[in-house]
Amino acid sequence: MPMPEGYRKGRTKYVVVVGTVMSGLGKGILASSLAMLLQDKGLNVQPIKLEGYLNQDSGTLNPFRHGEVFVLDDGMESDMDLGTYERLLDMELTGRNFATNGQIFRRVLEKEREGGYLGRDVQMIPHVTGEIKYLLRSLATKTNADVIFVEIGGTAGDLENAYYIEAVRQLAFEEGPESTVFVALTYIAEPKILGEQKSKAAQLGIKRLMEAGIQPHIIACRAANPVTQKVREKIAIYTNVPVERVFSQHDCESIYLIPENLRHARLDLRVVQMLNLGGRVNPDREFDRRGKWREYIGKIQSRDKDVTIGITGKYTAVRDSYASLIKAIEHAATLLGANHKIKWIETTGLTEKTAAEQLADCDGIIVPGGFGLRGLDGKIHCVRYARENNLPFLGICLGFQMAVIEFARHVAGIKNATTAEIPAKDRPEGGLPVIDVLPEQKKIEGLGGNMRLGGHDISMKAGTLCWELFGRNDVVRMRFRHRYEVDPEFIERLESHGMIFSGRAPTVPIMQMLELPDHPYFVGTQAHPCFTSRPLSGQPLFMGLMAAALARRYPKRCDFRKQLGLPEIDSAASAS
Ligand code: GLN
Repeated sequence: MPMPEGYRKGRTKYVVVVGTVMSGLGKGILASSLAMLLQDKGLNVQPIKLEGYLNQDSGTLNPFRHGEVFVLDDGMESDMDLGTYERLLDMELTGRNFATNGQIFRRVLEKEREGGYLGRDVQMIPHVTGEIKYLLRSLATKTNADVIFVEIGGTAGDLENAYYIEAVRQLAFEEGPESTVFVALTYIAEPKILGEQKSKAAQLGIKRLMEAGIQPHIIACRAANPVTQKVREKIAIYTNVPVERVFSQHDCESIYLIPENLRHARLDLRVVQMLNLGGRVNPDREFDRRGKWREYIGKIQSRDKDVTIGITGKYTAVRDSYASLIKAIEHAATLLGANHKIKWIETTGLTEKTAAEQLADCDGIIVPGGFGLRGLDGKIHCVRYARENNLPFLGICLGFQMAVIEFARHVAGIKNATTAEIPAKDRPEGGLPVIDVLPEQKKIEGLGGNMRLGGHDISMKAGTLCWELFGRNDVVRMRFRHRYEVDPEFIERLESHGMIFSGRAPTVPIMQMLELPDHPYFVGTQAHPCFTSRPLSGQPLFMGLMAAALARRYPKRCDFRKQLGLPEIDSAASAS
């Protein structure tokens, strides 16, 4: 099998995380927490998620079934786990960190058409598995990683990921001793009727993995409560894994506590030992990074204020579809010392009156991104309420567009303002789309691949609130995923009625950020700021919303600008 050019065996080590028993237990959280601990030690880590589905990317997946589509800076529409990696590792990932069966099969089939297999029959093994190994090793050479964290989607025993599992088995064999650590995530049930923890499902699950030729080195046990010594011992004896490497990953208050838990169990040290990486560790860096992280954890545990943020959205028990949004709120709240509560507001059928009722106990509101037409009028009622009642507001992507339509209708006198996302036949008679298809996209047909995607620079307007929030930077960067935008024809009219476009695309008239003066916090962005919020550095627009919400709730204690460390407004200067 070919090796990527320049591949140095032994340079890059691999930690492979596989699920057993059931999916959805948080493989990504475990993998990223462990990766973070190694990164803290000064090691260059790179994650890669291997998905079992045939889609080329996550772009066409329904977020209510699969969790949010997480957009990377290079435009890759990836799985939500990539968000967990970016947040914990505080690094920017690319399409190289995300693969699907669809991508891999496509590559194999293309190669076959190009005559790349020299007359051989193309087989799952060795060709598909070879392609997977090639992909992992290419990531190693391209990034010069010390450790690659490979997360395999699904659970051991699924047909979909069987070739991934076979490929990493081969990889570990070929790379030799001290090259690969296998981590299995499993589940310890605690049925109410029995009142005790049962390990049988976990044993069977791990057995499935061992049948595939993989002996795990570490087992993380997900459970509601701390896993007892007795259960850990039982798992140890059935799986050949020493009990000190059978780890209880029970539910905890915040996923950001998991890295410290892993550290207490010394799993980071064990991985370093097993991979013989001791010589590459930088203890000073670890000390420094650990200190910063502990400070953040201290903040999680010492929050002394409460805040309620309303989110217009269909919650329907699928938190995952708003994963980054929820995290961005959590980061901002934690950094400003607040316990946050989210109030989900279903906007279908919402009237002006019920919108006001729903929002009465909110300290701030977010109208997040979305597609389709459900509940648009309800969202507009919410925006109007926020604007007219000084309720701190953040509109994201679709929410930004709703803010423009609301302002157009009720302030700028464009009474029939609407969006072209509503097909002409469904629009009220005479509807005027102030939000329309991006000019550059107008020619492209069909779903998938015709959106403005990924990171783009934004030119900021000096002197605006958003410019201040972003540290007075003239150019900032955020990630996008949209088809529609403010029709440039209406910009002047909106501005003349007081809407400020504080951020624009540098070379084309695409409006990217808006704000209203004379309101404590009314901000919208065509981008998705949630994708770039990190625990230690909250995203500026969320920090702004949170500070404004706290200032509304605690007018005496919390000053908007002071909380954010913004210089006090010099009234003499601002008046001149
Ligand atoms: N549906 C809108 C558009 O395509 C908003 C997209 C979004 O919120 N992600 O422009």
